[in-house]
Amino acid sequence: MQICQHIEDVRQQGAAWQREGLSVGLVPTMGYLHRGHASLIEAAARENARVVVSIFVNPLQFGPTEDLASYPRDLGRDTELCEQSGASLVFNPSPEELYPPGFCSYVIMEAGPSLGLCGASRPGHFRGVCTVVAKLLHLVQPHRAYFGQKDAQQLAVIRRMVLDLNLPTAIIGCPIVREADGLALSSRNTYLSPEERRAALCLYEGLLAGNNLVKAGDADTEVVLRAVRERIEAEPLARIDYLALVDPLDMRPVPDLSGPTLCAAAVYMGTTRLIDNLLLKD
Ligand code: AMP
Repeated sequence: MQICQHIEDVRQQGAAWQREGLSVGLVPTMGYLHRGHASLIEAAARENARVVVSIFVNPLQFGPTEDLASYPRDLGRDTELCEQSGASLVFNPSPEELYPPGFCSYVIMEAGPSLGLCGASRPGHFRGVCTVVAKLLHLVQPHRAYFGQKDAQQLAVIRRMVLDLNLPTAIIGCPIVREADGLALSSRNTYLSPEERRAALCLYEGLLAGNNLVKAGDADTEVVLRAVRERIEAEPLARIDYLALVDPLDMRPVPDLSGPTLCAAAVYMGTTRLIDNLLLKD
């Protein structure tokens, strides 16, 4: 497995694989990798001859009061996990490599799935995500790129961006990987104190409570949202940032439960913001 810091090296390797007729999968990450990331790399390795994993804590997608400086990092452990999961190349650029002095061109989504939810709570977040992912897709020119359903809005935004910009990469969504008790794996889980970690389960249990009502068949959106909210708010350490029932393609709130419905939530456990979601109706 190669490890590259420089754009030119990745571009050349990508071009060489293209010339050899090898398919390439890309897995963009911010590092501090866990089994959720590994599942994406493994999926990419099954479906492509070569796999590029990018490890880059993207300053553009963090707000001024967010955790950019303290975001967990462990490149040694990450590269081991990448190699074990089937990666061919790890791209680990510096911020200056991707955003040199004078950088001022961005990819901005002005409507559709980028509005609401994390787009509303984290102004500028999807501008940062779209800009870095567009750059990575452009550099690597992968046949397929892999994203987790854990960040369902990000997946919807990337799908829209790729469609709007006529990018040739297929976007593959992968299922959420959870701890044994149901908590979605996240690099940010490392911030949780033992009490917060126990309490954080309210997020998944809330989503399950909503799912049970939908399965029973006689609930409307308000009843479902109330059940999810009540389970989360029963936990004194939890504070809801947002909770919504949305269409999984455009991320807009659904008026009723007749079509595809995703329940999406962001919850603060102390100062740690966790997100999770569950597809209540296909
Ligand atoms: P991050 O490093 O948090 O930016 O995540 C990189 C990619 O891994 C994104 O596409 C995430 O959606 C995905 N991912 C993060 N956590 C999980 C998880 N628990 N299960 C599946 N995919 C995940």
